[in-house]
Amino acid sequence: MTLSLQHALQGLGFADLVRFTPAQIAALCQATSLEEDALALALLPQAQHKARVPVSGFRVGALAMGNSGHWYLGANLEVEGLPLNSALHAEQAAIGHATLWGETGIRRVVVSASPCGHCRQFMQELNQECLTLVLEDARLSLAALLPHAFGPADLGQSYGMLNGPAGTLSVDSRDPWFWLHWPRPTPAMPPTAITGPGWRCC
Ligand SMILES: [Zn+2]
Repeated sequence: MTLSLQHALQGLGFADLVRFTPAQIAALCQATSLEEDALALALLPQAQHKARVPVSGFRVGALAMGNSGHWYLGANLEVEGLPLNSALHAEQAAIGHATLWGETGIRRVVVSASPCGHCRQFMQELNQECLTLVLEDARLSLAALLPHAFGPADLGQSYGMLNGPAGTLSVDSRDPWFWLHWPRPTPAMPPTAITGPGWRCC
């Protein structure tokens, strides 16, 4: 992180933020004289600092720019003793973070390392006409990073991961393994697969 950004974050009281409002972004652009993409890239160390990497030792930071104009940080989260396919990746964390704040679309994803294949497909599930990926040395469309992609549109779905229909969640499984990793059924939560709009797991 540049010294001027560090000073700006501290001076403006933004040093611990993991989400930035349009007004805060404008204030940081003004204080650092950075344009938005450069500022987003410069903020990635703030996300990387939050990474938990007991398996790989490789910190990844990501920043999702929501359609609302807010920015959301994300970092990779690994679980000690478990394989890397159990890890949450930084791009997924940033997009998940944006989802929790009610974003229905992502304009850009800024990330400290080139997205892995899994994350490219994960972002394809947003089902957006255009999604731009900003890396330290490149600005690319997701279509360029994932040519001949398959996604929700190929299934005739007009919505994506962030703007699909809301639904209720219920649980239904007689598999004992499932209940080892899920809270015991209660009268309010009968043992019945996790179901929601467009997906099912039992
Ligand atoms: Zn990934």
